[in-house]
Amino acid sequence: MPAHKSHEPKPLFDKILIANRGEIACRVIRTAKKLGIKTVAVYSEVDSDAMHVHMADEAYCVGPAPSAESYLRMDKVVEIARKSGAQVIPIYGFLSENAKFAQLLASEGIVFIGPPSSAIMSMGSKSESKEIMTKAGVPCVPGYHGTDQSSSNLLAQAESIGFPVLIKAVLGGGGKGMRIVYSAEEFNQALESAKREAMKSFSDDSVLVEKYIVRPRHIEVQIFGDQFGNVVGLWERDCSVQRRHQKIIEEAPAPGLDEKIRADLIGKAVAAAKAVNYVGAGTVEFIFDNDTSQFYFMEMNTRLQVEHPVTEMITRQDLVQWQLEVASGNPLPLSQSEIPRIGHAFEARIYAENPRNNFLPDVGPLLYLSTPPPSPSLRLEEGFRQGSNIEVFYDPLISKLVAHGRNRTEALRVLGKALEEYHVVGLSTNIEFLRTLASNPNFIAGEVETGFIEKHRDALFPPPAPPTAETLTQAALYVTLKEAFAGASSSGENPSPWSTLQFRRFGGDLSSQEFVFQHETVPGMRGRHAAVTSTSTVQVVAHPATSSSPQTFDILVKTVSDAGSETMKTAISAVTARITGPNEITTLLNNSKIVTTVVPQAAPNPQVPPSQSNSERLHVFHGGERITLVRPPPSWLSSLADDILGDARSKGITAPMPSVVVDIRVQVGEQVKKGQAVVILESMKTETVLRAEKDGKLKSIACSKGEMVGEGQQLVMFEEEDSAE
Ligand code: ADP
Ligand code: ADP
Ligand code: MG
Repeated sequence: MPAHKSHEPKPLFDKILIANRGEIACRVIRTAKKLGIKTVAVYSEVDSDAMHVHMADEAYCVGPAPSAESYLRMDKVVEIARKSGAQVIPIYGFLSENAKFAQLLASEGIVFIGPPSSAIMSMGSKSESKEIMTKAGVPCVPGYHGTDQSSSNLLAQAESIGFPVLIKAVLGGGGKGMRIVYSAEEFNQALESAKREAMKSFSDDSVLVEKYIVRPRHIEVQIFGDQFGNVVGLWERDCSVQRRHQKIIEEAPAPGLDEKIRADLIGKAVAAAKAVNYVGAGTVEFIFDNDTSQFYFMEMNTRLQVEHPVTEMITRQDLVQWQLEVASGNPLPLSQSEIPRIGHAFEARIYAENPRNNFLPDVGPLLYLSTPPPSPSLRLEEGFRQGSNIEVFYDPLISKLVAHGRNRTEALRVLGKALEEYHVVGLSTNIEFLRTLASNPNFIAGEVETGFIEKHRDALFPPPAPPTAETLTQAALYVTLKEAFAGASSSGENPSPWSTLQFRRFGGDLSSQEFVFQHETVPGMRGRHAAVTSTSTVQVVAHPATSSSPQTFDILVKTVSDAGSETMKTAISAVTARITGPNEITTLLNNSKIVTTVVPQAAPNPQVPPSQSNSERLHVFHGGERITLVRPPPSWLSSLADDILGDARSKGITAPMPSVVVDIRVQVGEQVKKGQAVVILESMKTETVLRAEKDGKLKSIACSKGEMVGEGQQLVMFEEEDSAE
């Protein structure tokens, strides 16, 4: 039966173009599929085989790898939208907060599924938005948002605000172009570096200076507006735990927030959105002072955020669907009082980065990827699969885990278990860091603040523990059974690994084999030596094989620390073991079943042809821990590599990660002071300043501006020192 004309919902679009890549592009495609909307993907040359390309109904290449030549090419995206007859949704990153892009689409008669360009413009400027907010009665952090950008004025402003202050790029986002300054002496250098990063990321180097709040929480409100002037708030999210001013774990609702403050916060966020006639999905970010319970407007992001799934989990809404409804001209699906708030949700961002190396981004292939099974309480937002490459050109976000529970404790438990089951080999990730974080007592107690990681650094970075006897046993048995299996199947015998062990292969003693494992401290680092903390030998003695039961072994494990003292000696008898998956070993030890994932990885050694290098890494995922063991190559090979690499390592500066050389600040022959900036690198939109570790004269420069360098690559060399320091 036909509904009343004015109540009849407008149809959603037939086809949408997703101007993005990775997990978010895949997430939008899922909603589109659910609604019967056709999808168009765009991709750069390195992304031709990407997951979002495979999931979409149509896909078009928009150019070479660098974003500026592909995903940021407005003209190409518009041309493809026109050609394919699609409306455009960018979500976050790339062209999402680009008012020009929104205008360009409008002029072509294509719908930009996002806010009006006027709102993007007002809110895209951290200065202008603060003026609008002040007028609308929304409190702002005290600071200078003016146009006099001279360093003398900015310094004077900083002094009148009082240190510490925060310099921010006016058009900034994603933590870029932001510097904390504690004293007047540091101001000019920080300003220069903020401006440089701002220029690169946002093509504009205007900055603002504001009071740095020392113990804040980051609390933000999800808002939504429609074309009829309605605006609702879909509760808040706490995103306080950050590194480099960027979020890594978010939750909804904010823990321990007083209901009165919550209502006030949501009211202010709605007022903020109404002040700019907001339509679509937006986030109003506040900084919340833990000491005074005051909150201040920080910025408004005119997009759906990376962390929107936590809001979706507690409200049971699909916010991409809301965006499509609103952009089609339909009213908001729910009114303010109808928006549910059910339980608690967390999002953990899985990044390609090395937390123990100052969270610097990493790139490389996902050689092995095994993820926890999704369930009603666990969402997996993925954009890459095993074999995909995490590229230097884009954000290092690999995926997101979103966990829901009836309360915070339950949600945290779901998240913790999922992190334990998330296994990656091939590049560094923050998975173990997130696990440690999620099990930290202060985090569990909800004592979050933006300085959380710094404050709890020692607890969050425990010294790497040497592997346990159990871990070493599992690794040795995995290799034993795999090798026996390989031997048996290649000789065409019954391929059942435990009934056909061929111990003839084990040399002298027919049924015994010894393994040497070195324990690496920095797992996942490629192409260079990581520190070794201990060396273990595992002796595996097989019981005589019977055809009916799994093979049984006796084990003797000895561990010697790198200082040479024996730290462990353990004998385990009658362990029953079988291979239960391509990378899985299941053992029965004193009547308890232990399942372990073991992923072998041939260690690339640039100095040695692969055929000669038999050094191999074993990544062992055991009891929620990940341990990397190295089976060392013959000693003549490693000493050869040391000769070649050792010299270079000691007297120069090397790239800590794959990156692009942005600037070289020194000249050959120059006397460089300790702490002086030498080379500036950029990787995945993050700038890193490499500084001299001590005074010295520069001997040579082995890189050039604009060059792409690999991890561990020599960049500059210092003169040999005659006198001791
Ligand atoms: P905030 O800017 O407040 O940190 P988000 O955490 O939502 O908000 O987003 C962080 C930033 O990361 C975005 O502004 C965007 O520039 C970048 N970003 C996130 N995901 C992507 C992506 N898939 N592609 C490009 N850029 C992205
Ligand atoms: P971006 O656009 O890069 O996300 P924001 O203005 O949202 O920049 O700030 C990012 C983060 O920096 C915040 O989440 C918060 O942790 C921190 N921050 C921002 N402003 C302040 C401030 N005035 N005092 C202390 N910390 C701040
Ligand atoms: Mg922000």
